[in-house]
Amino acid sequence: MKYKTLKGLQDILPPDIAVWHHIEATARTIFRSYGYQEIRLPIMESTDIFIRSIGETSDIVEKEMYTFEDRGGRSVTLRPEGTASFVRAYVEHHLHNNPAPQKYYYMGPMFRYERPQAFRYRQFYQIGVEAMGIDDPKLDAEIISMLSRILSGIGLEGLSFEVTSIGCAECRPGYKEALKQFLSDKLNNFCSDCQRRYELNPLRILDCKVPGCIESRNGSPPVIDHLCKECDVHFESLQKNLSVLHVPHTINPNLVRGLDYYTKTAFEVSSENLGSQSAVAAGGRYDSMVDEFGGPPTPGIGFAMGMERIIPLIKESVPLPSGPDLFLCPLGNKATEKALVLAEGLREKGLWAEVNYDGTSLRSQMRKANRIAAQHVIVLGDEELETDRASIKDMTGGQESKTELNPSSLFNLIRNNK
Ligand code: ATP
Ligand code: MG
Repeated sequence: MKYKTLKGLQDILPPDIAVWHHIEATARTIFRSYGYQEIRLPIMESTDIFIRSIGETSDIVEKEMYTFEDRGGRSVTLRPEGTASFVRAYVEHHLHNNPAPQKYYYMGPMFRYERPQAFRYRQFYQIGVEAMGIDDPKLDAEIISMLSRILSGIGLEGLSFEVTSIGCAECRPGYKEALKQFLSDKLNNFCSDCQRRYELNPLRILDCKVPGCIESRNGSPPVIDHLCKECDVHFESLQKNLSVLHVPHTINPNLVRGLDYYTKTAFEVSSENLGSQSAVAAGGRYDSMVDEFGGPPTPGIGFAMGMERIIPLIKESVPLPSGPDLFLCPLGNKATEKALVLAEGLREKGLWAEVNYDGTSLRSQMRKANRIAAQHVIVLGDEELETDRASIKDMTGGQESKTELNPSSLFNLIRNNK
């Protein structure tokens, strides 16, 4: 083979695409019922947008970004996630001037230079949402409830919802100190990245995937024990509202996110059926980001779900799309012309019609109809052309019925059989 996809990238082909459409359509319907509108953002941004928001010491910025110089010498990056681009757009287009809450969703590819493995790709697709302008935890609960509805609407089972609070600018310095104190006499057991992070951003040590670091940080103080009054009340209220909305959840005080911009609420949904790459969706609040991007202080919250981790979990249960509504088998040139015109008439009415082009024997045309899973077949020969009538065969039930050879009659018959 001369050319192949790059490592960690994949082609998405039919019939798998039907599963993608099923997820996207379910999500769109539910988004609409909560008032979320679609936005489409560029997949490339100026590199500093991601460094500034995701954080210089995060794994994403340190190791995973596709960053390069464009022909004009600017440093650009393929987006590793959606929120930073969104906030850039939110500030750039003064969306804060619209009444709160502003609710948006996006669907599209993200890029991270990770080690490819099962359920972990270098180009992967996310469906994400962002809700702006409200800091009330009722919104947090509602957004988690919406995520739960989407995932169960898609057909996912065996999920666990974990929530926590990771504090704000007010309580974080105190927590950092407590964490540093806990780590101070264990630093030698940590990887060199973590030793560097200890001074720069000790919170990132909690997200390190190196097994030795995971073990050594065991027993570290949880953030929720160090929340300021405001964050504490917020977190209590989030839990109460989740219960009001009947969203089953557990509190995971050790939940950390790989991005620096989160404040207060953070959450993750994982599946028991995905092995070590178990997170299907994750999100949280980011109340300082708009401010940091030069907009007026505006709270925000969002989540993103990973398509490639959801697809394998539901693939078996999504029905495969059926074949053409009608396959026309013409015998001879005149019949072929008639078939071409009839097919156009049916397509105009929204049906999927296919004409056999190659004038082969009836037997081989029928074989083809079976192979492409045609729902109905009609054979057009001399007699059919003369009488302007033909019999149409329902390939699922096997019965045949007579019909006139015009698009309306064919359409009615096929639609009644559906
Ligand atoms: P993980 O801990 O698995 O690396 P993450 O915390 O880096 O996930 P987020 O940045 O929160 O992931 O992205 C949200 C979701 O996007 C994840 O829950 C996951 O479903 C999906 N995702 C993230 N990275 C990848 C990847 N490399 N390949 C496929 N899906 C991914
Ligand atoms: Mg990751």
